Amino acid sequence: MIPQETIAKIFDSADIVDVISDFVNLKKSGSNFKGLSPFSNEKTPSFMVSPAKGIFKDFSSGKGGNVVTFLMEHDQLNYPEALKWLARKYNIEIIEEELSNEQIAANNSREGLYLAQQYANAFFKDQLFNSDEGKSIGLSYFKSRGYLETTIKEFELGYSPLKMDALHSKAIKDGYAIENLEKAGLVKKSEKGWYDFYRGRVIFPIHNITGRIIGFGGRTLRTDKKVAKYFNSPESEIYNKSKVLYGMYQAKNSIIKEDCCFLVEGYTDVISMNKSGIKNVVSSSGTSLTEGQIRLIKRFTNNIIILYDGDAAGINASFRGIDLVLKQGLTVKVIVFPENEDPDSYSNKISTSEFQNFLYENQKDFLTFKAEMLLNKAKKDPVKIAETIKDIVSSIAIIPDPITRSIFIKSTSQTFDIDEQMLIQEVNKKLKKISPSNYSPSVQDNSKSFLPSKAIDKGVKHKLDTQEKDLIRLMLNYGSLSIPLEIKSENGETSEEQYPLAQFIIEEMLTDNLNYNNSTYQNIFNEFVDGLENGLLINDQHFIQNPNLTSLVVDLTTSENTLSENWEKKHQIQTKTEPLRLKQAAIESVFIYKLRVTENLILEKQMQLKEFVNSTESDIKLEEINELMKVRNIFAKELGIIITQ
Ligand code: ATP
Ligand code: MN
Repeated sequence: MIPQETIAKIFDSADIVDVISDFVNLKKSGSNFKGLSPFSNEKTPSFMVSPAKGIFKDFSSGKGGNVVTFLMEHDQLNYPEALKWLARKYNIEIIEEELSNEQIAANNSREGLYLAQQYANAFFKDQLFNSDEGKSIGLSYFKSRGYLETTIKEFELGYSPLKMDALHSKAIKDGYAIENLEKAGLVKKSEKGWYDFYRGRVIFPIHNITGRIIGFGGRTLRTDKKVAKYFNSPESEIYNKSKVLYGMYQAKNSIIKEDCCFLVEGYTDVISMNKSGIKNVVSSSGTSLTEGQIRLIKRFTNNIIILYDGDAAGINASFRGIDLVLKQGLTVKVIVFPENEDPDSYSNKISTSEFQNFLYENQKDFLTFKAEMLLNKAKKDPVKIAETIKDIVSSIAIIPDPITRSIFIKSTSQTFDIDEQMLIQEVNKKLKKISPSNYSPSVQDNSKSFLPSKAIDKGVKHKLDTQEKDLIRLMLNYGSLSIPLEIKSENGETSEEQYPLAQFIIEEMLTDNLNYNNSTYQNIFNEFVDGLENGLLINDQHFIQNPNLTSLVVDLTTSENTLSENWEKKHQIQTKTEPLRLKQAAIESVFIYKLRVTENLILEKQMQLKEFVNSTESDIKLEEINELMKVRNIFAKELGIIITQ
């Protein structure tokens, strides 16, 4: 638990323009800033940041909120993760509450591991760029592979010198805790003494989703077949191989933008694709694809394109990968490289534009891919062809979404010229065998929830959402502005009093015991009431820090006009004129709402009336309905609505 005071301190220190500028190129526009939406591919800026209000609003995707929710949306962080990100940026110490001694020890040991990786990588980077050995061996190796300096820097690549204990002796000199380096697998001890695990290798650090280094891959520069080409960090408290994808930290924003993720085999493929201008690429280096890794991709997109080497081992591994992806409900396409080529080698062989074209033109959906591969093997053998179809049917049965399933069934029936009904039966047989918990229910199960219910009759009642929203919008935007109201005193005299708009709406709601249907609106309303009871008139700023309400509040307090160049001028005019007709707006909003509520009540009573057989009970109901009608007509008259009944 992060203490409330610390959260407040973080919000106080975090400058929303400063933070968002880390991700979006912002330009000043009046008192606001604007830029291209990081959540969609747009050409004209519709993303706005208001430093005065501490909010952002993206008009292309509809997202909006405060500095913390921006990080949550943009980097897919949870609330505490986003707060911690800001605390790090602004050097605010977080001392968490109510942690047990074990938790504190665990945190310290995790933090120690993080710091060890960071310490080592700073050393590896320094060696690569600033030492003679690093430049002549490491950097020239990367250059010979065609890596760009910007890519090398972005991926924080490094070089670990040939000397037995370069890192170890530096750590000793710096007084750095060796235990942590040892725990992270960076230095080891033998009879001859300490040695660096990655000595004489180029270094690929592995980042977690927030950009901290959690492990390394080190490639040898020797051609000697006896040395393992790659060394990798062991798993640790901070590095769980099955849940990490190499390159995800650098790729995630473009994965969201492109709405698709390329999956390749290893470090060099990721870097080479980046060099060719493709940034939405990750790899499951060192392990075969896991469910955890697919779930990680699913946080950013539902579309995966898997890139395979053109050898047989690659193809067989691909089938397993495809089924895993299908099972999680993602769409999967496949690109197979020519024989003996992988993304790294092939991108070096042809030009960047040729490579991009190759990727674009060779994408195959899993069905076409599987059919081609298996049929190729089956030749014309009917038994083998039948096996192929069964194989494809099992893949289709794995897809959770019934509509996607039926699309692939249709397509299979066309490809193989097989009766569609028969394929449906085959898929259904498979479906029955698969545990139901993982899958959406079959059509029969669904139909139960579509049975007609009494709720349908209620359809004639007014939906109050628009009216409720308008009341809340007025309170948030103009709650503290005064409107002139005529107040009758006890001796019957009327006088005009200035009344804050929020207070007017609150009193109107409370005197009639009205509650909002929408619980979020009710929550906002309650905050206003609480404020008023303490003699405070709150406004939109009161909600900006609340992660559950900020998005709605921003939505109700910003409009696209705020983006236009001369918005400042327009806005001044608006805020000047609005209070003049504010009274009108408030009264309209309140009375339309009350009118609708009353009409709903009348409808309810009319429905009850139908069920009464006893005439005295009916009479009472009729009387009630008449009274409500009168009330309704008063509201309607206030509003100048012509009564047609
Ligand atoms: P070469 O220059 O000989 O092509 P490479 O460094 O590109 O070597 P490959 O043998 O081509 O490596 O391996 C294919 C991909 O798998 C590369 O992206 C590589 O980074 C990755 N890889 C290979 N072996 C390992 C390993 N043991 N652990 C993690 N990743 C590996
Ligand atoms: Mn290679």
